[in-house]
Amino acid sequence: MEKLAIFGGKPVRETKIYYGRQCIGEDDIQAVADVLRGPFITCGPKVAEAERKLAEYTGAKHAVVCSNGTASLHCACIAAGLGPGDEVITTPLTFAASANCAVYCGATPVFADIDPETWNIDPVSIRAHITPKTKAIVAVDFTGQAVKIKEIRQICDEFHLVFIEDAAHAIGTAYNGRKVGSLADMTCFSFHPVKTITSGEGGAITTNSEDLYKKLVLAHTHGITHEDELMEEAPHEGPWYYEQISLGFNYRMTDFQAALLLSQLGKLESFKQRRAEIVKKYNEAFKDLPGIIIQKEIPESDTCRHLYIIRLDLDKLTCTRRQFFDAMSAENVQCQIHYVPVYWFPFYKHRGYEKGLCPVAENVYKGIMSIPLYPSLTEEDTDNVIEAVKKVVAYYFE
Ligand SMILES: *Cc1c(COP(=O)(O)O)cnc(C)c1O
Repeated sequence: MEKLAIFGGKPVRETKIYYGRQCIGEDDIQAVADVLRGPFITCGPKVAEAERKLAEYTGAKHAVVCSNGTASLHCACIAAGLGPGDEVITTPLTFAASANCAVYCGATPVFADIDPETWNIDPVSIRAHITPKTKAIVAVDFTGQAVKIKEIRQICDEFHLVFIEDAAHAIGTAYNGRKVGSLADMTCFSFHPVKTITSGEGGAITTNSEDLYKKLVLAHTHGITHEDELMEEAPHEGPWYYEQISLGFNYRMTDFQAALLLSQLGKLESFKQRRAEIVKKYNEAFKDLPGIIIQKEIPESDTCRHLYIIRLDLDKLTCTRRQFFDAMSAENVQCQIHYVPVYWFPFYKHRGYEKGLCPVAENVYKGIMSIPLYPSLTEEDTDNVIEAVKKVVAYYFE
């Protein structure tokens, strides 16, 4: 057995690689620089163009770009009309923003459990958590794999709920041949640098509903409108006149971010393809490796993968996850954990959420670890990742 780097052995590589990183080319840099040299660095034509292209790409009627993915979720919750007394069902295995967006509106997040194999929210558990107060579902396409959209749509129709899809991981994914973004009532995206495409910080919401679209536009720009048909005062004083007709926020994206987003959107299909190649290579390396469990995919999802997660079968390994994580780090493969169950955090704990609420998610959480996945990884890089996983597993296998 090879001596692990953590115990003084030779690491599988000399330089560290991380679980994710952005992929920025000279053309992206040029697109941003062009905007910075022009007259509009915010509220200009690139924002409108990015919205048009995102709607076109996803097949949604409308898109609104905004300052980040969290803002997109907040806007969606505002447009859904959420307020105190309302309950919103979401998954605990997600970034905190998927639940926080409900709290911003005074509503209460309710955590449904996940499927033990796909790690996505389980429609059976959603049903079990519906009460007369339930008003919306925030379903997260975890790692990029589409949630069970058909089943969730059915639940939403049956109980008159708003279907918000948190697709922060899932731009580029399709479900039964239709792109994520055109399927739920509102779909929220993030363009943070670790996500599949980036605008630095950035987000977007897509929808097919005219009514929700109008509310989203207002929510992301102070509740202010310039549109005659929405204003109370008619005729009004002049072209400078606008009205604030609801309470919104300044969640706008800048034009140079929109230029970066447009440039990155043009590369999404090639990013998707490269990510898929790496996923295939990892799947083949790990699918029969005792001690490692890989994520199951539903056939409906044509996934643009954001994260590659291995789940340690801790009954078969003599180490803890922490020891495995540290051993990988010493081999110069820096992993990450996605995610600590949201309701374990003190903010939620102090609001009465207790450990044990979602036993499947908690159990899955104990063994998961994200390994490097991004388009610019070379064959040598991915070989190193596989070698490191196999080396650590071999060392700790019972
Ligand atoms: C990244 C992420 C968000 C938040 O996006 P930001 O752009 O970082 O605000 C929300 N939900 C999920 C599932 C995410 O991964």
